[in-house]
Amino acid sequence: MQYSASFPGGTVQYYFNSSFRSVFELIDVEECIVITDENVAKLYGSLFADFKAVITVAAGEQSKSTETVSSVTEQLIKHECHKKTFILGVGGGVVTDLTGFIGTIYMRGVKFGFVPTTLLGMVDASIGGKNGINFQTHKNLLGTIRQPQFILYDNNFLKTLPDTEWNNGFAEVVKTACLFDKPMFDELTTCDLISYQNNGAALASLVARCTDWKNKIVIADEQESNSRKLLNFGHTTGHAIEAAYQIPHGHAVSLGMVIACMLSEKQNNLPDTVRERLISVLENYHLPTEMRLDIDKVMNLLKMDKKRSGKDIDYVILKEVGISEIRKLPINIIQDALTEFNEGSN
Ligand code: ADP
Ligand code: ZN
Repeated sequence: MQYSASFPGGTVQYYFNSSFRSVFELIDVEECIVITDENVAKLYGSLFADFKAVITVAAGEQSKSTETVSSVTEQLIKHECHKKTFILGVGGGVVTDLTGFIGTIYMRGVKFGFVPTTLLGMVDASIGGKNGINFQTHKNLLGTIRQPQFILYDNNFLKTLPDTEWNNGFAEVVKTACLFDKPMFDELTTCDLISYQNNGAALASLVARCTDWKNKIVIADEQESNSRKLLNFGHTTGHAIEAAYQIPHGHAVSLGMVIACMLSEKQNNLPDTVRERLISVLENYHLPTEMRLDIDKVMNLLKMDKKRSGKDIDYVILKEVGISEIRKLPINIIQDALTEFNEGSN
């Protein structure tokens, strides 16, 4: 299945249920540099044999750095890359973020495309045109918004995905369902991780629906001045917990969504049955729902959140499953919710 999405910053072709070999019909691989990480290179390096060159970065978040940008740039120069060179990012969110960032700034921009190889990359990270790297302790501080030419989905890559990465991806899937899609939430309730891992068609359909939602939001608000902020559901406290405890992104977002539900109960009269259902869905995908937090530590990180304006924080809360809104919440209300969350955690 193929479709195109037109963003203010450009049109992206999506190729779902595709195979990596289809890239050969989209671009001249002899004029294309692959950027990937060492894990993906080890598993799938043979797919890149006909490309102009492969640049392999270390796996993990540490590669979203100015040092890696510098080393990749040196290699692009060494391979005599020019304005017409195409850059293809094959990997998880780290690789696609880095590829998009370099693709935007190298010679003021060259064409680039993505083949996401993690579930998180497929449903979230590769979509929307945000490309960025970290600087010192600041996550995604340096970045650009520029859309890739295409995103190609080959679900075969997921066969080698480690469990933690499945969890990370499903946290974003559950997020999407909570925000926009009650039928998807109901489906997630009746299924579990194994059932999707064993049912390629159901997984492909889930990936396509999540992509569709993210596209709709980004098309309406590419620069994140308004509705795109909804995608931060579970992420405001989630990012602070992730930074405080160095736990996987999906685990932190999972905890963040439970806390956001508690706040939605207080601020929006969300029935507490929604939280109970959310917790059982998160458990189906092996995501944590309880944790004893050091509230001062988490609050200090939260206060540094870039979405904070004055005393308040833009916080995404639910009205019901599938209906969400952005509310400015005073810091102390969030602190109260964290305290309540802690009291309920073992
Ligand atoms: P994310 O996609 O979650 O943003 P990363 O880009 O860091 O994060 O990818 C997560 C990890 O999964 C990395 O260690 C990466 O090398 C590894 N990885 C990516 N794709 C695959 C795959 N298809 N099979 C196995 N491991 C993979
Ligand atoms: Zn996320």
